[in-house]
Amino acid sequence: MNAADFSISQLRDAYTKGDLTPADALKSIASSIEEKDGDIGGYLSHDLDLALAEAGDVDLSLPLGGVPVAIKDLINAKGQPCGCASKILTGKYTSPYDSTVVRKLREAGAIPFGRTNMDEFAMGSSNENSGIKPCRNPHDLDRIPGGSSGGSAAVVAANTAVAALGTDTGGSIRQPASHCGVVGLKPSYGRVSRFGLVAFASSLDQAGPLTKTVADAALLLQTISGSCERDSTCLPNPVPDFTAAIGQDVKGLKIGLPKEYFAEGLDPKVKENVEAAIKKLSDLGAETVEISLPNTEHAVATYYIIATAEASANLARFDGVRYGHRAEADDLITHYKKSRAEGFGDEVKRRIILGTYVLSSGYYDAYYLRAQKVRTLIRNDFEEAFKKVDVIASPVSPTPAFKIGEKSSDPLAMYLADIYTISANLAGICGISVPCGTVSEGGSDLPVGLQLLGKSLGEEDIIKAAHAVEAG
Ligand code: GLN
Repeated sequence: MNAADFSISQLRDAYTKGDLTPADALKSIASSIEEKDGDIGGYLSHDLDLALAEAGDVDLSLPLGGVPVAIKDLINAKGQPCGCASKILTGKYTSPYDSTVVRKLREAGAIPFGRTNMDEFAMGSSNENSGIKPCRNPHDLDRIPGGSSGGSAAVVAANTAVAALGTDTGGSIRQPASHCGVVGLKPSYGRVSRFGLVAFASSLDQAGPLTKTVADAALLLQTISGSCERDSTCLPNPVPDFTAAIGQDVKGLKIGLPKEYFAEGLDPKVKENVEAAIKKLSDLGAETVEISLPNTEHAVATYYIIATAEASANLARFDGVRYGHRAEADDLITHYKKSRAEGFGDEVKRRIILGTYVLSSGYYDAYYLRAQKVRTLIRNDFEEAFKKVDVIASPVSPTPAFKIGEKSSDPLAMYLADIYTISANLAGICGISVPCGTVSEGGSDLPVGLQLLGKSLGEEDIIKAAHAVEAG
């Protein structure tokens, strides 16, 4: 077996038994990338020599000692490229520092290995907005892997990585995890430091794990969580032992089923799989309760106002002076305009324009301010719901992975498919996608994920429930 086929715990066992060294593991992962990634496009780059140098003095007794982790291309790892799958940065920016998540991984003995493909600056749900190259779903190469952390999900699913980190602003960990049949966990806002992530929408972004098992997700989350003096939005709360939630009984756990998430637009075959997973939980003694999240219908509009507004401000720094691509021009304004016009892709430009519009004087009250008020209503919906239930179960995405090109000419159709994931980011709560079956389409078996949402800092509940689904 190639080390890339292993989960984190299997790899750690192989190290303990002396069957493998971290250098062996890195070399075999590199050979599996060589063999398979040409068709998939999950990696933008990987540097075996750099990783081998790091593996040389790794302490195997640490919790992630010698475990290679693939990193989404917007998370800074010192000495590695960080291009955000954008032409404005790729080949022109090497991280001079570690993000807090990568620092914590390294302190736990992990080796950041490989930069994963993504939608440019994390804007998208299909990876078709990558400014560098397409990424394909390992279960059907004609289909999207999901996005924006499509590469991170694809490399874990294709067994060209043991585990990966992604980020989730409106579903970008959970949705590709669902489409690729892996586990993806979005931590509660503030659970994990955002220091060193290239910001898309700062009030929504969170980094989290994409893994082969729920136990691996718990272990990675454990490692990257906790307060950070470099991110004032990172919460000081103590980090519980997430791995202790694995294997805990779900008897008596109250599971809310939001009626708005099982309504029109949901593919009946996806629904069937999701309902079967929920039945599994109730057979184990969990109690299901119908709930309502009445402001769901406003979530997509609210998200695409707030996220674009924040993005338009965050991406102002890419001006051709401080970072990345630098266009030739005679005066400063032309220089800014040309650098950005040449460097950014269409979707990024669309979002900057939308975001600038909703923040402009005269429209601010009608769009941005109103969206902030609706965001509070959405958050209140969840607060009410969590008075009655411990976790909320739903689909992750209304359909299985669609064909490459199917929705790329219709941005609105793409945005609407984010309906089940984005509210969690607006409310700041945590969520996980755990594989719950497959749907047969066009000769392929396409994975379906069950989404479990937990209250803010309620990761233990969703890990416990997700593990019960996984254990079947
Ligand atoms: N699909 C959503 C968007 O395009 C979410 C992206 C994300 O979570 N980074 O904005």
